[in-house]
Amino acid sequence: MHEQDNLNYPYEDHPAAGTTLEIAPGVRWLTMPMPGSLSHINLYLLEDKSGWWVVDTGLSLPNVAEWWHEIFSKELGNKPIVGVICTHMHPDHIGQAAMITEEFRCPLYMTRAEYYQARSFANSGGSHHSSWLGQDFYTRAGMPLEYLEQLAKMWEARSSEGMSMPTMPSGYERLTDGQILTIGEHDWRVVVGSGHSPEHACLYCAALKIMISGDQILPVITSNVSVHPTEPNANPLKDWMDSHDKFLNTPADTLVLPAHNLPFYGVRERLRGLISHHDDRMLAIEEACIEPQVAKDLLPVLFARELDPRQMMMALGEAIAHLHLLMHRNRIERSLHEDGVFRFLSIDPDLSRRAHPGAHDAPDDSPVMV
Ligand SMILES: [Zn+2]
Repeated sequence: MHEQDNLNYPYEDHPAAGTTLEIAPGVRWLTMPMPGSLSHINLYLLEDKSGWWVVDTGLSLPNVAEWWHEIFSKELGNKPIVGVICTHMHPDHIGQAAMITEEFRCPLYMTRAEYYQARSFANSGGSHHSSWLGQDFYTRAGMPLEYLEQLAKMWEARSSEGMSMPTMPSGYERLTDGQILTIGEHDWRVVVGSGHSPEHACLYCAALKIMISGDQILPVITSNVSVHPTEPNANPLKDWMDSHDKFLNTPADTLVLPAHNLPFYGVRERLRGLISHHDDRMLAIEEACIEPQVAKDLLPVLFARELDPRQMMMALGEAIAHLHLLMHRNRIERSLHEDGVFRFLSIDPDLSRRAHPGAHDAPDDSPVMV
């Protein structure tokens, strides 16, 4: 057990590719490779009487499918996969759902919003970024039109990295908040969060004191919470903060099994840390908005480093998410100027009492897709 950031990590390392590690009776952990700085995604297996359930599936890359076949032949005790659960619709979670459900003719379980968003994005790629909605969205954020060309190139490159949306199974079984899945000896309760994705399913087992958290609760890295051109006035950070309040009810002695980094204890400490992180980001933005600000010019408030076009897209989406929650809280207002660009201005007369300019750090990490 090692400690970091007030969290306790009972495992030092991830299981090697192609192997599984038992976390508790009937619960196994495995990883699949991912390109880039994340390097891996954690997936989990739950043992039922007649076979195994898979929780999340990895990217739709050939080497991930190969590792899965290694697992099927060596790690399952000759039992089949009987169900696939995807916590949410991002490509590293759903990439092999079609392959596994085809191979075993077993159902896919997802929440309704995640399943249908995955299917619709699988058909449209990144095209919404270059539509007129995308043009308006980036223009209003202060980006030059050339940026849309850079984005189009980026989406092309991403599809060759296996990061584009894969084909989805043509049907699914719906998961809903509070639903109980009985798997083997254990009851797993579906706990739905939102903000990182529309209707993200976590699984909680009270008997084992384990939560499989997907990207809803991660240690170390901060999940991306972004506004996109598909819903330019969305307020996902409100959903995210509300979800954190809801997940604070998770018992303090729960072992959290996240999709990235290592399993950890300290769920409430982590959630409180994330709430104060976003509150601090919002205050830093609010202080900057004493003068009218364009979304693009607020990026250095959130990210200290230079950003490439893809990171810029993530960072801009996050900045706008923070701006929209500040608007919702009546702390800033937005106006559309003649140049077609939004300006944001602080309107809270109490800001000077709350402000502590110079005390915010722009972290040196880059925005992450998870
Ligand atoms: Zn995700």
